Amino acid sequence: MINRRHFIASVAGAVAAVSALGVAHAAEKGLVGISMPTKSSTRWISDGESMVKEFTALGYTTDLQYAEDDIPNQLAQIENMVTKGAKVLIIAAIDGTTLSDVLQKAHDKGAKVFAYDRLIKGSANVDYYATFDNFKVGVLQATSLVDGMKARFKGVKPWNVELFGGSPDDNNAFFFYDGAMSVLKPLIDSGDIKIVSGQMGMDKVGTLRWDGAVAQARMDNLLSANYTSAKVNGVLSPYDGLSRGIISSLKGVGYAAGDTMPIVTGQDAEVPSVKAMIAGEQYSTVFKDTRELAKTTAKMVDAVMQGKEPEINDTKTYDNGKKVVPSNLLVPMAVGKDDIQKALVDSGYIAADKLK
Ligand code: BGC
Repeated sequence: MINRRHFIASVAGAVAAVSALGVAHAAEKGLVGISMPTKSSTRWISDGESMVKEFTALGYTTDLQYAEDDIPNQLAQIENMVTKGAKVLIIAAIDGTTLSDVLQKAHDKGAKVFAYDRLIKGSANVDYYATFDNFKVGVLQATSLVDGMKARFKGVKPWNVELFGGSPDDNNAFFFYDGAMSVLKPLIDSGDIKIVSGQMGMDKVGTLRWDGAVAQARMDNLLSANYTSAKVNGVLSPYDGLSRGIISSLKGVGYAAGDTMPIVTGQDAEVPSVKAMIAGEQYSTVFKDTRELAKTTAKMVDAVMQGKEPEINDTKTYDNGKKVVPSNLLVPMAVGKDDIQKALVDSGYIAADKLK
Protein backbone atom coordinates (compact mmCIF):
# COMPACT_ATOMS: atom_id res chain seq x y z
CA MET A 1 0.00 0.00 0.00
CA ILE A 2 2.73 2.39 1.05
CA ASN A 3 4.65 1.47 -2.05
CA ARG A 4 1.62 2.08 -4.20
CA ARG A 5 1.06 5.46 -2.61
CA HIS A 6 4.69 6.28 -3.08
CA PHE A 7 4.45 5.23 -6.70
CA ILE A 8 1.37 7.44 -7.27
CA ALA A 9 3.11 10.36 -5.57
CA SER A 10 6.16 10.04 -7.81
CA VAL A 11 4.02 9.75 -10.94
CA ALA A 12 2.13 12.86 -9.85
CA GLY A 13 5.47 14.62 -9.26
CA ALA A 14 6.73 13.62 -12.67
CA VAL A 15 3.51 14.82 -14.32
CA ALA A 16 3.78 18.14 -12.49
CA ALA A 17 7.41 18.49 -13.61
CA VAL A 18 6.50 17.75 -17.23
CA SER A 19 3.60 20.20 -17.22
CA ALA A 20 5.82 22.82 -15.56
CA LEU A 21 8.20 22.32 -18.46
CA GLY A 22 5.21 22.63 -20.77
CA VAL A 23 4.33 26.00 -19.28
CA ALA A 24 7.91 27.20 -19.57
CA HIS A 25 7.90 26.09 -23.17
CA ALA A 26 4.56 27.86 -23.75
CA ALA A 27 5.93 31.10 -22.39
CA GLU A 28 8.83 30.80 -24.82
CA LYS A 29 6.48 30.78 -27.80
CA GLY A 30 5.10 34.10 -26.65
CA LEU A 31 1.95 35.91 -25.67
CA VAL A 32 -1.05 36.14 -27.98
CA GLY A 33 -3.49 38.94 -27.17
CA ILE A 34 -7.04 38.10 -28.18
CA SER A 35 -9.45 41.02 -28.27
CA MET A 36 -13.11 40.12 -28.79
CA PRO A 37 -15.95 42.64 -29.13
CA THR A 38 -18.60 41.42 -26.70
CA LYS A 39 -19.94 38.56 -24.67
CA SER A 40 -23.51 39.53 -25.46
CA SER A 41 -23.44 37.20 -28.45
CA THR A 42 -22.50 33.57 -27.81
CA ARG A 43 -20.53 33.26 -31.00
CA TRP A 44 -17.74 35.49 -29.64
CA ILE A 45 -17.60 33.49 -26.42
CA SER A 46 -17.11 30.37 -28.45
CA ASP A 47 -14.50 32.09 -30.69
CA GLY A 48 -12.55 33.15 -27.61
CA GLU A 49 -12.69 29.76 -25.91
CA SER A 50 -11.67 27.94 -29.08
CA MET A 51 -8.74 30.25 -29.66
CA VAL A 52 -7.41 29.87 -26.14
CA LYS A 53 -7.60 26.11 -26.61
CA GLU A 54 -5.86 26.14 -30.00
CA PHE A 55 -3.09 28.53 -28.97
CA THR A 56 -2.45 26.72 -25.72
CA ALA A 57 -2.11 23.44 -27.61
CA LEU A 58 0.44 25.08 -29.91
CA GLY A 59 2.46 26.29 -26.93
CA TYR A 60 1.46 29.96 -26.67
CA THR A 61 0.15 31.86 -23.68
CA THR A 62 -2.98 33.92 -24.22
CA ASP A 63 -4.64 37.04 -22.90
CA LEU A 64 -8.33 36.96 -23.86
CA GLN A 65 -10.37 40.13 -23.35
CA TYR A 66 -13.94 41.15 -24.14
CA ALA A 67 -14.76 44.83 -24.61
CA GLU A 68 -18.55 44.75 -24.16
CA ASP A 69 -19.07 46.75 -27.34
CA ASP A 70 -17.32 49.77 -25.86
CA ILE A 71 -14.68 51.24 -28.19
CA PRO A 72 -12.47 52.96 -25.56
CA ASN A 73 -12.58 49.74 -23.58
CA GLN A 74 -11.33 47.72 -26.55
CA LEU A 75 -8.57 50.27 -27.22
CA ALA A 76 -7.43 50.12 -23.57
CA GLN A 77 -7.43 46.33 -23.61
CA ILE A 78 -5.33 46.17 -26.78
CA GLU A 79 -2.98 48.84 -25.44
CA ASN A 80 -2.50 46.74 -22.34
CA MET A 81 -1.71 43.65 -24.42
CA VAL A 82 0.96 45.63 -26.31
CA THR A 83 2.43 46.85 -23.03
CA LYS A 84 2.55 43.28 -21.73
CA GLY A 85 4.67 42.39 -24.76
CA ALA A 86 2.17 40.46 -26.89
CA LYS A 87 3.89 39.11 -29.99
CA VAL A 88 0.59 38.68 -31.78
CA LEU A 89 -2.72 40.51 -31.61
CA ILE A 90 -5.93 38.86 -32.78
CA ILE A 91 -8.67 41.43 -33.02
CA ALA A 92 -12.37 41.29 -33.81
CA ALA A 93 -12.97 45.03 -33.87
CA ILE A 94 -16.07 46.74 -32.54
CA ASP A 95 -15.55 49.63 -34.93
CA GLY A 96 -13.10 48.66 -37.66
CA THR A 97 -11.81 52.21 -38.09
CA THR A 98 -10.75 53.13 -34.57
CA LEU A 99 -7.59 51.13 -34.02
CA SER A 100 -4.91 52.88 -36.10
CA ASP A 101 -2.95 54.48 -33.22
CA VAL A 102 -2.75 51.42 -31.03
CA LEU A 103 -1.82 49.26 -34.02
CA GLN A 104 1.02 51.66 -34.86
CA LYS A 105 2.34 51.13 -31.32
CA ALA A 106 1.98 47.38 -31.72
CA HIS A 107 3.80 47.47 -35.04
CA ASP A 108 6.61 49.58 -33.59
CA LYS A 109 7.10 46.90 -30.94
CA GLY A 110 7.23 44.22 -33.62
CA ALA A 111 3.85 42.60 -32.95
CA LYS A 112 1.92 40.90 -35.76
CA VAL A 113 -1.70 41.87 -36.17
CA PHE A 114 -4.45 39.54 -37.34
CA ALA A 115 -7.92 40.87 -38.07
CA TYR A 116 -10.32 38.23 -36.86
CA ASP A 117 -13.70 37.81 -38.57
CA ARG A 118 -14.07 41.61 -39.04
CA LEU A 119 -11.71 43.66 -41.18
CA ILE A 120 -9.68 46.38 -39.43
CA LYS A 121 -9.80 49.46 -41.62
CA GLY A 122 -7.59 52.49 -42.24
CA SER A 123 -4.36 50.94 -40.96
CA ALA A 124 -1.38 49.55 -42.85
CA ASN A 125 -0.44 47.62 -39.71
CA VAL A 126 -2.81 44.76 -40.29
CA ASP A 127 -0.84 41.73 -41.41
CA TYR A 128 -3.52 39.13 -42.14
CA TYR A 129 -7.25 38.55 -42.03
CA ALA A 130 -9.06 35.33 -41.13
CA THR A 131 -12.80 35.28 -41.73
CA PHE A 132 -15.63 33.61 -43.61
CA ASP A 133 -16.73 34.44 -47.11
CA ASN A 134 -18.89 37.34 -45.99
CA PHE A 135 -20.45 38.09 -49.37
CA LYS A 136 -21.50 34.45 -49.54
CA VAL A 137 -23.17 34.79 -46.12
CA GLY A 138 -25.47 37.44 -47.60
CA VAL A 139 -26.12 35.31 -50.69
CA LEU A 140 -27.09 32.37 -48.45
CA GLN A 141 -29.41 34.56 -46.34
CA ALA A 142 -31.23 36.00 -49.33
CA THR A 143 -31.43 32.64 -51.08
CA SER A 144 -33.05 31.05 -48.05
CA LEU A 145 -35.41 34.03 -47.73
CA VAL A 146 -36.56 33.54 -51.32
CA ASP A 147 -36.76 29.75 -51.03
CA GLY A 148 -38.78 30.11 -47.83
CA MET A 149 -41.23 32.55 -49.42
CA LYS A 150 -41.57 30.29 -52.47
CA ALA A 151 -42.56 27.44 -50.18
CA ARG A 152 -44.76 29.31 -47.67
CA PHE A 153 -46.30 32.05 -49.83
CA LYS A 154 -46.67 30.23 -53.12
CA GLY A 155 -49.50 32.14 -54.76
CA VAL A 156 -48.54 35.54 -53.33
CA LYS A 157 -47.18 38.26 -55.59
CA PRO A 158 -45.41 40.47 -54.88
CA TRP A 159 -43.86 39.21 -51.68
CA ASN A 160 -43.79 41.99 -49.09
CA VAL A 161 -40.33 42.17 -47.62
CA GLU A 162 -38.37 44.38 -45.21
CA LEU A 163 -34.59 44.58 -45.06
CA PHE A 164 -32.27 44.80 -42.05
CA GLY A 165 -28.54 45.41 -42.13
CA GLY A 166 -25.82 44.93 -39.54
CA SER A 167 -23.76 47.59 -37.79
CA PRO A 168 -22.47 50.27 -40.19
CA ASP A 169 -19.12 50.39 -38.34
CA ASP A 170 -18.54 46.72 -39.14
CA ASN A 171 -17.21 46.11 -42.64
CA ASN A 172 -18.90 42.70 -42.68
CA ALA A 173 -22.33 44.32 -42.56
CA PHE A 174 -21.78 45.78 -46.04
CA PHE A 175 -20.61 42.44 -47.44
CA PHE A 176 -23.65 40.67 -45.99
CA TYR A 177 -25.97 43.34 -47.40
CA ASP A 178 -24.32 43.41 -50.83
CA GLY A 179 -24.33 39.62 -51.02
CA ALA A 180 -28.02 39.54 -50.13
CA MET A 181 -28.87 42.28 -52.61
CA SER A 182 -27.10 40.40 -55.40
CA VAL A 183 -29.96 37.89 -55.02
CA LEU A 184 -32.83 40.24 -54.07
CA LYS A 185 -32.27 43.20 -56.41
CA PRO A 186 -33.27 41.35 -59.60
CA LEU A 187 -36.46 40.18 -57.84
CA ILE A 188 -37.21 43.71 -56.64
CA ASP A 189 -36.63 45.03 -60.15
CA SER A 190 -38.91 42.38 -61.66
CA GLY A 191 -41.67 43.17 -59.17
CA ASP A 192 -41.58 39.76 -57.45
CA ILE A 193 -40.48 41.41 -54.22
CA LYS A 194 -41.82 44.68 -52.87
CA ILE A 195 -39.95 46.54 -50.13
CA VAL A 196 -43.13 48.04 -48.75
CA SER A 197 -41.46 50.69 -46.59
CA GLY A 198 -39.17 51.63 -49.47
CA GLN A 199 -36.23 51.53 -47.02
CA MET A 200 -33.17 50.18 -48.79
CA GLY A 201 -29.42 50.78 -48.54
CA MET A 202 -27.19 50.35 -45.50
CA ASP A 203 -27.69 54.01 -44.54
CA LYS A 204 -31.39 53.27 -44.02
CA VAL A 205 -31.42 49.65 -42.84
CA GLY A 206 -28.21 49.41 -40.76
CA THR A 207 -28.49 48.48 -37.06
CA LEU A 208 -25.83 50.10 -34.89
CA ARG A 209 -23.83 47.62 -32.76
CA TRP A 210 -25.96 44.76 -34.03
CA ASP A 211 -28.43 45.61 -31.27
CA GLY A 212 -31.54 43.43 -31.20
CA ALA A 213 -33.54 46.07 -29.30
CA VAL A 214 -32.80 48.60 -32.04
CA ALA A 215 -33.99 46.12 -34.68
CA GLN A 216 -37.13 45.41 -32.68
CA ALA A 217 -37.94 49.13 -32.39
CA ARG A 218 -37.39 49.63 -36.13
CA MET A 219 -39.59 46.63 -36.94
CA ASP A 220 -42.32 48.04 -34.66
CA ASN A 221 -42.19 51.28 -36.63
CA LEU A 222 -42.17 49.53 -39.99
CA LEU A 223 -45.21 47.50 -39.01
CA SER A 224 -47.27 50.39 -37.73
CA ALA A 225 -46.37 52.65 -40.66
CA ASN A 226 -46.74 50.17 -43.52
CA TYR A 227 -48.61 47.06 -42.52
CA THR A 228 -51.97 48.06 -41.15
CA SER A 229 -53.63 46.10 -43.96
CA ALA A 230 -50.71 44.54 -45.89
CA LYS A 231 -49.00 41.39 -44.57
CA VAL A 232 -45.26 40.86 -44.23
CA ASN A 233 -43.96 37.81 -46.11
CA GLY A 234 -40.27 38.05 -45.37
CA VAL A 235 -37.60 39.86 -43.42
CA LEU A 236 -33.94 39.82 -44.36
CA SER A 237 -32.09 39.73 -41.07
CA PRO A 238 -28.28 39.41 -41.05
CA TYR A 239 -27.84 38.13 -37.49
CA ASP A 240 -29.78 35.93 -35.06
CA GLY A 241 -29.75 38.61 -32.34
CA LEU A 242 -31.57 40.98 -34.70
CA SER A 243 -33.91 38.21 -35.84
CA ARG A 244 -35.04 37.66 -32.26
CA GLY A 245 -35.97 41.35 -31.94
CA ILE A 246 -37.75 41.28 -35.31
CA ILE A 247 -39.66 38.12 -34.38
CA SER A 248 -40.75 39.64 -31.03
CA SER A 249 -42.06 42.62 -32.91
CA LEU A 250 -43.94 40.41 -35.40
CA LYS A 251 -45.42 38.33 -32.58
CA GLY A 252 -46.45 41.57 -30.86
CA VAL A 253 -48.85 42.33 -33.72
CA GLY A 254 -50.21 38.81 -33.92
CA TYR A 255 -47.97 36.82 -36.29
CA ALA A 256 -47.37 33.31 -34.97
CA ALA A 257 -45.52 30.16 -36.07
CA GLY A 258 -47.32 28.53 -38.95
CA ASP A 259 -48.47 29.24 -42.50
CA THR A 260 -48.55 33.02 -42.19
CA MET A 261 -45.35 33.56 -40.20
CA PRO A 262 -43.00 35.71 -42.30
CA ILE A 263 -39.75 34.11 -43.40
CA VAL A 264 -37.02 35.52 -41.14
CA THR A 265 -33.35 34.75 -41.77
CA GLY A 266 -30.37 34.99 -39.42
CA GLN A 267 -26.73 34.19 -38.79
CA ASP A 268 -24.54 32.49 -36.17
CA ALA A 269 -26.70 29.55 -35.11
CA GLU A 270 -27.21 30.96 -31.61
CA VAL A 271 -29.06 28.59 -29.29
CA PRO A 272 -32.17 30.75 -28.68
CA SER A 273 -32.51 31.25 -32.43
CA VAL A 274 -32.04 27.58 -33.23
CA LYS A 275 -34.83 26.96 -30.73
CA ALA A 276 -36.92 29.57 -32.55
CA MET A 277 -36.26 27.64 -35.76
CA ILE A 278 -37.45 24.42 -34.14
CA ALA A 279 -40.56 26.32 -32.96
CA GLY A 280 -41.19 27.52 -36.53
CA GLU A 281 -40.64 31.20 -35.79
CA GLN A 282 -37.26 31.78 -37.45
CA TYR A 283 -36.78 30.20 -40.85
CA SER A 284 -33.02 29.84 -41.19
CA THR A 285 -29.62 30.83 -39.94
CA VAL A 286 -26.11 30.82 -41.37
CA PHE A 287 -23.70 28.63 -39.48
CA LYS A 288 -20.09 29.72 -39.34
CA ASP A 289 -18.09 27.20 -37.38
CA THR A 290 -16.13 29.38 -34.99
CA ARG A 291 -14.05 26.37 -33.94
CA GLU A 292 -12.72 26.18 -37.48
CA LEU A 293 -12.04 29.90 -37.64
CA ALA A 294 -10.09 29.69 -34.39
CA LYS A 295 -8.09 26.72 -35.64
CA THR A 296 -7.33 28.39 -38.97
CA THR A 297 -6.24 31.58 -37.23
CA ALA A 298 -3.98 29.72 -34.82
CA LYS A 299 -2.35 27.87 -37.72
CA MET A 300 -1.81 31.13 -39.59
CA VAL A 301 -0.25 32.72 -36.51
CA ASP A 302 2.01 29.75 -35.88
CA ALA A 303 3.24 29.79 -39.48
CA VAL A 304 4.03 33.51 -39.31
CA MET A 305 5.80 33.09 -35.97
CA GLN A 306 8.02 30.47 -37.57
CA GLY A 307 8.84 32.81 -40.43
CA LYS A 308 6.69 30.86 -42.89
CA GLU A 309 3.90 31.98 -45.19
CA PRO A 310 0.47 31.36 -43.66
CA GLU A 311 -2.32 29.83 -45.70
CA ILE A 312 -4.14 32.52 -47.69
CA ASN A 313 -6.90 32.07 -50.27
CA ASP A 314 -7.85 35.65 -51.10
CA THR A 315 -5.60 38.58 -51.95
CA LYS A 316 -8.13 40.83 -53.69
CA THR A 317 -11.32 41.32 -51.73
CA TYR A 318 -10.43 43.01 -48.46
CA ASP A 319 -9.05 46.46 -49.15
CA ASN A 320 -8.96 48.32 -45.84
CA GLY A 321 -8.19 51.71 -47.37
CA LYS A 322 -4.43 51.39 -46.75
CA LYS A 323 -3.74 47.94 -48.16
CA VAL A 324 -5.42 44.83 -49.44
CA VAL A 325 -5.17 42.53 -46.46
CA PRO A 326 -4.21 38.95 -47.36
CA SER A 327 -7.10 36.83 -46.22
CA ASN A 328 -8.14 33.30 -45.47
CA LEU A 329 -11.86 32.86 -46.09
CA LEU A 330 -13.78 29.92 -44.67
CA VAL A 331 -17.04 28.64 -46.10
CA PRO A 332 -20.34 29.56 -44.38
CA MET A 333 -23.30 27.17 -44.42
CA ALA A 334 -27.04 27.87 -44.61
CA VAL A 335 -28.99 25.94 -41.99
CA GLY A 336 -32.75 25.35 -42.03
CA LYS A 337 -34.83 23.42 -39.53
CA ASP A 338 -34.05 20.08 -41.20
CA ASP A 339 -30.29 20.67 -41.08
CA ILE A 340 -30.06 21.40 -37.36
CA GLN A 341 -29.34 17.86 -36.24
CA LYS A 342 -26.58 17.13 -38.72
CA ALA A 343 -24.91 20.54 -39.00
CA LEU A 344 -25.15 21.73 -35.41
CA VAL A 345 -25.77 18.81 -33.07
CA ASP A 346 -23.91 15.91 -34.72
CA SER A 347 -20.95 18.22 -35.36
CA GLY A 348 -20.80 18.94 -31.62
CA TYR A 349 -21.34 22.68 -32.04
CA ILE A 350 -24.50 22.67 -29.92
CA ALA A 351 -25.19 20.02 -27.28
CA ALA A 352 -28.55 18.31 -27.91
CA ASP A 353 -29.81 19.07 -24.38
CA LYS A 354 -29.37 22.82 -24.94
CA LEU A 355 -32.10 22.69 -27.57
CA LYS A 356 -34.69 21.13 -25.24
C1 BGC B 1 -19.99 38.67 -37.59
C2 BGC B 1 -21.29 37.93 -37.46
C3 BGC B 1 -22.05 38.42 -36.25
C4 BGC B 1 -22.09 39.92 -36.16
C5 BGC B 1 -22.68 40.37 -34.87
C6 BGC B 1 -20.24 40.14 -37.58
O1 BGC B 1 -19.06 40.83 -37.75
O2 BGC B 1 -19.35 38.27 -38.78
O3 BGC B 1 -21.04 36.56 -37.35
O4 BGC B 1 -23.38 37.97 -36.36
O5 BGC B 1 -20.82 40.47 -36.33
O6 BGC B 1 -21.92 39.94 -33.79
